[in-house]
Amino acid sequence: MTALELIGAINQILFVGLFVVVLRHALRERRRSSFNTALLFGSIAAVVLVSRVADALGLAEHPAYPGIVITLLAVAPFAMVRLVDDFSHSPRAIQIAGYLGFAVVAAMAILAFGPIQRLVGLVAIVFFLVVGGYAGYAFAREAARARGITRRRMTAVATGAVAFIAALVLIFAGVLLPRVAETASILAQVAALVAAGAFFLGFAPPAWIRRAWREPDLRHFLERSIHLAGVTDERAAVAELNVAAASALGARGASVGIADPNRGVLRYVDAETGEWSDFPDDMFIAGRAYRAGRRVVAEDAAAADPQHADRYRATGANAVIATPIGTDARRLGVLAVYAERMSIFAEDDLWLVDLLADQSAVLLEARTLAEHASALRAREEAARMKEEFLSAAAHDLRTPLTVVLGQAELLERRQQRSPEAPADAQGLARIAREARRLSDLVSELLDAQRLEQGGAVRDFAPADLLEVVAAVRERYSEGGVTLSAPAPSLPLIASVDRPRIEQVLDNLVENALKYTPQGPPPEVHVAIDGGEARIAVVDHGIGIPGTDRKRIFERFFRASNAQSITDTGLGLGLFICRRIVEEHGGRIWFEPTPGGGTTFAITLPLVEESGTEPLDERGDAWEPRPARGVAADA
Ligand code: ADP
Repeated sequence: MTALELIGAINQILFVGLFVVVLRHALRERRRSSFNTALLFGSIAAVVLVSRVADALGLAEHPAYPGIVITLLAVAPFAMVRLVDDFSHSPRAIQIAGYLGFAVVAAMAILAFGPIQRLVGLVAIVFFLVVGGYAGYAFAREAARARGITRRRMTAVATGAVAFIAALVLIFAGVLLPRVAETASILAQVAALVAAGAFFLGFAPPAWIRRAWREPDLRHFLERSIHLAGVTDERAAVAELNVAAASALGARGASVGIADPNRGVLRYVDAETGEWSDFPDDMFIAGRAYRAGRRVVAEDAAAADPQHADRYRATGANAVIATPIGTDARRLGVLAVYAERMSIFAEDDLWLVDLLADQSAVLLEARTLAEHASALRAREEAARMKEEFLSAAAHDLRTPLTVVLGQAELLERRQQRSPEAPADAQGLARIAREARRLSDLVSELLDAQRLEQGGAVRDFAPADLLEVVAAVRERYSEGGVTLSAPAPSLPLIASVDRPRIEQVLDNLVENALKYTPQGPPPEVHVAIDGGEARIAVVDHGIGIPGTDRKRIFERFFRASNAQSITDTGLGLGLFICRRIVEEHGGRIWFEPTPGGGTTFAITLPLVEESGTEPLDERGDAWEPRPARGVAADA
């Protein structure tokens, strides 16, 4: 046996083997594309069979033999264009050319092969080149469009188709041109071998190759979706899951429906608006799969669900695969994948859709667990806050209360002992002072509560911030404290809840005084920058330790060095300031004052620009540096 004969024999075995595999598949899955695949390889297997029988019976020279072989070979390109039409749209002209060409070649080959051999050969070559060539091109085009395993299988099929057509053309060229017959025959066998190998990879890849080809799709999906377990916004997570599933499958679209069994609906994220839309949980093909608890495949969605045919057509969802997410015991939703046409390798898609549905179930469960955990954390945090609040409030309220009570009891006893004695003015003043402090603390607590709930800042009206600052300055300079602020030059109009802004500035100035046991008094600076006013309260006090900086604006937080200065203070002032400033659309932050101390700054948006120069008249005007400072939301 020569090498060429060996290759020929291998080719024959491969093609017959392929036919057996695809025939078994076609019998199991009765789809048009399976039938056309079986037709393709059936024709080649038939050629092998006929030639074997003819050889065995010595019928190779029979006048009908070449006609039968040519007709059988012509079935192959014809089956190919039918196959192309199964997964993509192919022009009507090429379909007609396929049918007509096949009829012409078959008729000429069977009826009139003897006298017009050369003409039949030429017509057959043209037919193979045009029809088979188009099929090869269409497979390659589909390969370029597809992704993952479908792309690889399609590439193999395209290679196989081109090599197979080349082999046929070479065989006929050999017959027509006896001078190159030998070379053509060698090349034809090699091309047929390439075709057989490529077709095997395309139509019947071995399990290990299939696994290796599928793996990237799955990894790609996991890479894109694994973080979704932690995404708090469920709508955004589902939208991303849709994109990840569609992209893993190279499908036109995918949509995950989340089950809401209490309301009997499936919730989808609308691809256009990005909003939730709820549908009864038995609606669409997806709903059927969800209700039935098993996969539903619709090669023609409009026919399978005529009620919503328009919807499927409008979105180009001609073929739909829907698989429930979750188990029978715990149905979480459904995954539906839409495509223009069913792939001829539907089994890969089905496998991947099932797997993606399982992965989605894991993700959705993980999300539920994460939500439970965060709800639990929030409850614990609330309980902790309540405890902190109670102990802070109890401690801070008890001190003035003890004074009030003690003083009142003292006055009472004195009164009983000597009712005629003049009133103790000092004692009364003390009671009044401590009661005021008590009232301030209670107001602060209530205020923080109201601001936390929102809507406590509402009386916005245009006000000149320079006037507001001047009023604050006035208040504190009356108490013997010197503050330096710029003399008003241009009005700085902002839309503010004035008492609230004054409350913020009072608080910052009070803190600045409170936390500056000795040293120069605090200063207030006003600057304007673009559309914003910046007000800074600069002190030269005890500063804020580095470790506490991040938490300064938290509710009830007091820095470690504050206790050494005063043990009164709930740690609510800055929390309240932050809320008020943010409700005004501004920012609050602090940074160390050069040389020691702390600078707290706020910005407020201005209604109309009042100038661009810093208003501070001093040469060393304070310049805010929020980048280095610690913002309230840091
Ligand atoms: P309170 O002053 O009632 O404790 P605040 O919310 O006003 O509460 O302030 C929170 C903490 O921030 C204070 O306890 C103190 O540790 C720190 N702090 C605020 N302002 C200053 C400042 N000007 N200098 C140093 N530390 C400050």
